[in-house]
Amino acid sequence: MTGVGALNGLLDRKTTVKMPVLFLGHGSPMNAIAENNFTKTLGALGKRVPRPTAILVVSAHWMSEGTWVTGMERPKTIHDFYGFPQALFDVQYPAPGSPETAKLIQAEIQSPKINIDHEMWGLDHGTWSVLKHMYPKADIPVMQLSVYMSQPPEYHVKLGEELRKLREKGVLIVSSGNIVHNLRRIVWDPAAPAYDWAIEFDQWVKEKLEKRDFTAIQNDVMKSEAVKLSVPTPDHWYPLLYTIGASDKNDSMKFEYEEMQNGSISMRCVSFGMEA
Ligand code: ZN
Repeated sequence: MTGVGALNGLLDRKTTVKMPVLFLGHGSPMNAIAENNFTKTLGALGKRVPRPTAILVVSAHWMSEGTWVTGMERPKTIHDFYGFPQALFDVQYPAPGSPETAKLIQAEIQSPKINIDHEMWGLDHGTWSVLKHMYPKADIPVMQLSVYMSQPPEYHVKLGEELRKLREKGVLIVSSGNIVHNLRRIVWDPAAPAYDWAIEFDQWVKEKLEKRDFTAIQNDVMKSEAVKLSVPTPDHWYPLLYTIGASDKNDSMKFEYEEMQNGSISMRCVSFGMEA
């Protein structure tokens, strides 16, 4: 199905299942080709989530001016890193795009303005390093949503709220970043013990999520001392704000995974609205 037919089909679609919303800590690109507890958890998660009609990934690695959604039929696999083994550059994630869903998102969200990208981006490793484990067949349409970096936290939460309605249409909203992400303090051994400040900040966020204190996550986070080293730049932090925005107060909340990798990266993954 293409064009208007597909768009109408999507709009008319009555899914009996409301899709969950996920925040995934993606960590080092090496996780894309690793087999570890984290990647096994992603594989199991892909089987537990009801099969989506499309996947929208808010990736920390698409930092933009304006908010963009990929709208191409065949998004390319982007290898947006340096100094990693050839095996990582050989990875392709040939999932189709969904121009129809991109148009739907643009039409349904009046504010802020959503721009459709036809050639600039594709799927970066924030997306494919996790989807490769969740959906190894790459047979579900995938779009990316950019992170408009110069906007304040409330912009990202509000946009997440706007995206919430897509869950009723079978779209899986995945945010891919890391709650703690400091590359300058990274230890190359993935199993290195975590820094105290990393544990402190990760626990602070965990507690606020458990209490559903989203106001604190949106407004107070920059007041904490541990945040200075845990979130030196907000690119990997902002995706979490889309997840809390797209969550519903009746959703169950679960930490699907928790681990510290490389001393300064929290791999914490959170789901809202996931059936037991
Ligand atoms: Zn990253």
